[in-house]
Amino acid sequence: MADTAELQARKTIHVDGEWREAASGATREILDPADARPFVLVAEGDEKDTDLAIEAARRAFDQGDWPHTPVAERAALLRRVADLLVRDREELGLLESRDAGKTVEEGRVDIDCVADAFRYFADLVAGEAPGRVVDAGSPEIHSVVVHEPIGVCALITPWNYPLLQASWKIAPALAAGNTFVVKPSEITPMTTVALIDLLAEAGLPAGVANIVTGPGHTVGARLAEHPDVDLVSFTGGLVSGTKVAQAAAPSVKKVALELGGKNPNVVFADACATDEAFDTAVDQALNAAFIHSGQVCSAGGRLIVEESVRDRFVAELARRAGRIRLGRGTEDGVECGPLVSEQQRAKVEAYVDSALKEGAVLRSGGKRPEPSPQRPEGGYFYEPTVLDRCHREMKVVREEVFGPVLTVETFRTEDEAVALANDTEYGLAGAVWTADAGRARRVAGRLRHGTIWINDFHPYLPQAEWGGFGKSGVGRELGPAGLAEYRETKHIYQNLAPKPVRWFAG
Ligand code: NAD
Repeated sequence: MADTAELQARKTIHVDGEWREAASGATREILDPADARPFVLVAEGDEKDTDLAIEAARRAFDQGDWPHTPVAERAALLRRVADLLVRDREELGLLESRDAGKTVEEGRVDIDCVADAFRYFADLVAGEAPGRVVDAGSPEIHSVVVHEPIGVCALITPWNYPLLQASWKIAPALAAGNTFVVKPSEITPMTTVALIDLLAEAGLPAGVANIVTGPGHTVGARLAEHPDVDLVSFTGGLVSGTKVAQAAAPSVKKVALELGGKNPNVVFADACATDEAFDTAVDQALNAAFIHSGQVCSAGGRLIVEESVRDRFVAELARRAGRIRLGRGTEDGVECGPLVSEQQRAKVEAYVDSALKEGAVLRSGGKRPEPSPQRPEGGYFYEPTVLDRCHREMKVVREEVFGPVLTVETFRTEDEAVALANDTEYGLAGAVWTADAGRARRVAGRLRHGTIWINDFHPYLPQAEWGGFGKSGVGRELGPAGLAEYRETKHIYQNLAPKPVRWFAG
């Protein structure tokens, strides 16, 4: 372990345009998941820091200019932020890799996607009509429905895509004219901290964007319950999301939840009819399950494959999973980084143990890899793991693992495939692989998940809504609905020729 005394403590709480330490003076070490060494000390905020940040955001909303800034100016600012992200892509991509353990290339792609989110919401608001005129049935009545910012937004984000998840909230919140307090995951705050500086550089007025670094049970809980917060948008696990909804209920604030998933990847035999098609389906199944070590809310960790092709499919999957190059995300040639924390790795190990006890057959992985020059001792590495002969009653099939674990189930008929794919309390995303276009559309129509891929896995578009059915969440991010989350709707009814009503005679 590095001596933390050598580390420079960073001021990572930003309130009303000023960087600060925590009011209590507390700090937290941020660890590099590749070697478990701390690389920076950040402020460990608590309820007191949170209250100050909410006060600043409230003031900026109630008394500041941002909510009334013309839409074209707000859009221009968002586009400047996108340009600054492009300028700092290398630095931010590297920081994301160090913080979250992903490869630098993944980090760079994340930053590109963050810039895309800012551009998308800039274009969306800039192109909108100012309101919807409603025909009130009389020339003497002018009736219009307008959208206004909702107020102070509390934005709580997870560690797997730290800046990307934050951008899906920050960009629409700003585009709509809100002020906000963001709370990144306590273990991966660095790129969100960096974004706050870029927002100021782009010209955002002080007090509009505030950040409090610190734990969920103090900072996050306070944000969710605070009566001066008008909306809480949360991305994270089901347990924390439920607590957020409960804490938010007494003040009847708007709540948006992006939670976990248990995402089926359904492969029909006809998708493997040629060698080329087989190779594509296997390659994509590998990518679906193991990109970012499976720490993806939409990870395709549940392979549901037609029985007739199972053996060949699983053998090739296991062979390729065993060849994935694990290592520190900044090393050349590394394809997959470590898990984010020791806690996360222990959770994955417990799921694999329970699966093996319940009768799953291990085809690949199932353990920590040996250290190597690219994989320092102490890093939270875990081998990509393929578990065959799984069934729907197993804990590993029912619960979100959030790690590099792929379970294999089989089906014989289309109905059976659909029933298996829908047999989850979650409903975030799923895929169907088939050469039969009719079946593809039929199955896509029957799957109860927020995103369905046909002959693909993982792509998303900022223009298309993202979110889940069932316990995968409430509300949507991205697309027009992702902007609507951050708005109130107001009906303005104007009588151009008022007269007495005379309901009351006296
Ligand atoms: P988590 O729930 O542990 O934490 C998420 C955030 O919530 C963190 O900032 C944390 O500090 C905070 N938090 C924790 N307890 C809280 C509380 N009581 N009140 C308020 N805030 C609290 O999740 P995680 O481990 O950081 O992230 C992994 C989870 O996120 C997975 O379940 C994954 O599926 C989900 N996720 C979902 C999406 C999506 O788009 N649906 C995207 C990414 C991640």
